[in-house]
Amino acid sequence: MTITLSFPDGRSVPVLGQGTWNMGDDRGRRDEEIATLRAGLDLGLRVVDTAEMYGGGRSERLVGEAIAGRRDEVFLVDKVLPSNASRRGTIEACERSLAALATDRIDLYLLHWPGSHPLSDTIEAFEELVERGLVRSWGVSNFDVDELDAIPRDAALQTDQVLYNPSRRGPEFDLFPALKARGVPAMAYSPIEQGRLLGDAALADVAARHDATVAQIALAWTIRSGDVLAIPKASSVAHVEANAAALDIRLDADDLAAIDRAFPPPRRAQPLEVI
Ligand code: NDP
Repeated sequence: MTITLSFPDGRSVPVLGQGTWNMGDDRGRRDEEIATLRAGLDLGLRVVDTAEMYGGGRSERLVGEAIAGRRDEVFLVDKVLPSNASRRGTIEACERSLAALATDRIDLYLLHWPGSHPLSDTIEAFEELVERGLVRSWGVSNFDVDELDAIPRDAALQTDQVLYNPSRRGPEFDLFPALKARGVPAMAYSPIEQGRLLGDAALADVAARHDATVAQIALAWTIRSGDVLAIPKASSVAHVEANAAALDIRLDADDLAAIDRAFPPPRRAQPLEVI
């Protein structure tokens, strides 16, 4: 059974998707990366996350190639750079991204992190893009609680994509409750901490109990609430298959307690961490 999460606009997606940072950078790995993204789609990992920043468009172009002919299966997430996120710059960035992606629409378009252009201008541009059908919905990324508070309550915000995994639990204290109060799900980036969690002994113990890998336990933990969508990046078919299988792992109270001992939940508010 695949657990899904609903955005405020009613669209549902599986709680596990695919990240693409650094994909497309190495020509020698391109074919395998494309095959990996397609294998992920075959396994139901429909959410594909990219950004104009990644490789200066190389990731978007690779994603475009990977989803060619199967656009309707994909829930495409892209991000505008804060430096481009003026009223007019956001529209132009989106048009460039659509060309790189070789598609006519982005399913969810995010402001990559808070920047210096007035947020109201970025939101107005997002709304124009929605009206023109170039973007289905919009959200933000790397927004902490106070930045989230600056977004009007009646705005059509769909998500805040933030750093979250067992070693980065800060959002549990205040950001996730603030999102929940608005009915907005979070997206967790770097759910395997870019590979740095792979050698963790506590996660390895839990993994052994489930006949699973550390990466799978990190993912199962990250998506455990049903309110958080994780977007691990895999560049081999073996890794994306393992990641999809994490959807079937149910962590029990003992597992969660063991992970809490190794990675204590936050006791006070802390500034949102970023990578
Ligand atoms: P991840 O936490 O997803 O870690 C990626 C690393 O984990 C890679 O080295 C990958 O290896 C490895 N890995 C993946 N699956 C497995 C597996 N089953 N077993 C063992 N190792 C595995 O890091 P990312 O930083 O890439 O984060 C994920 C995505 O989140 C990004 O790709 C990007 O789309 C998004 N992101 C967004 C940010 C934002 O500011 N909004 C910031 C950072 C990321 P291999 O490549 O060899 O498969």
